[in-house]
Amino acid sequence: PQASCEDVLTHEVLSALRDWRPAASDKRKFGHLFIVAGSRNMPGALLMNAMAAVRSGVGLVTAFAPESIAPQLAAQLPEVMWTPWPETPDGGLALEGWYLLREKLPRATALLCGSGFGHERESRTLIEEIVAEVSLPIVLDADALFPSVLDVVSERGSNKGPVIITPHAGEFMRLSGRDSAVYDREALTWFAHKHNVITVLKGPLTRVTDGKFVHASTFGGPVLARGGSGDLLGGLMGGLLAQWPDDAFRAAGAGVVWHGMAANLMARERGAVSVATTDLLQYLSPVLRLA
Ligand code: AMP
Ligand code: MG
Repeated sequence: PQASCEDVLTHEVLSALRDWRPAASDKRKFGHLFIVAGSRNMPGALLMNAMAAVRSGVGLVTAFAPESIAPQLAAQLPEVMWTPWPETPDGGLALEGWYLLREKLPRATALLCGSGFGHERESRTLIEEIVAEVSLPIVLDADALFPSVLDVVSERGSNKGPVIITPHAGEFMRLSGRDSAVYDREALTWFAHKHNVITVLKGPLTRVTDGKFVHASTFGGPVLARGGSGDLLGGLMGGLLAQWPDDAFRAAGAGVVWHGMAANLMARERGAVSVATTDLLQYLSPVLRLA
């Protein structure tokens, strides 16, 4: 495919969200995000996914967490339905927990996987199983991004929902096997087309492509250059995807714009230095008023 032109994303991609809460609303109208992420060693990634997801407007969030940390996470974020998952000896998510997910899957409208997962063989097998079997639209981030997962993504039939991947430059190099992080829009489009995956290549400029069209966002800035920024983006995007399961490309673009605009607002009010990653959450709602 030839990426002929690059659309620059604007706040307009968010306008559908702002008014989308009619009086007779029911939580089920706004989707249900399932999050499969985290490990005993990296609980924060999962918590930040979930914190952003609950601010996305999604109706319900269920998060599966390694059983030894689920109670602590639940105490920090009561909005989420925390479901303990059996652990590997290293504190990752054991393959045997798969039945838990399968049982509850019919209730979900989208799935988010990978933050803080670690690199255990067993966790990777779990991700591959999920991508091969689950027909929901899926966001894969961070530790769910390893080369063999791309083969499984490519083999998903057209009866299954789309997959969005959200690598930063290093993860993208790992995935694509290239030793340069420089990817122009044609090459990125070709990658997305070849692997049948909506690709969000994150950085100071973030590109979003479905293999046909490329959208670029310059929102956000160095205030985002701190640990956990991507985990917030993942949660936000997952929550949007759960609300718009039939428009994954829009969910991907809207997540990038919302996250980046909130970062800009935060940097304008507080500067780019002495903030915590999760401070960004407070700026998500004011952005919608600007949209
Ligand atoms: P991650 O590396 O997965 O935590 O993701 C970092 C997030 O912050 C991505 O959404 C990046 O686009 C964004 N980000 C990081 N550094 C910058 C920067 N210097 N300018 C703009 N966005 C950035
Ligand atoms: Mg990340």
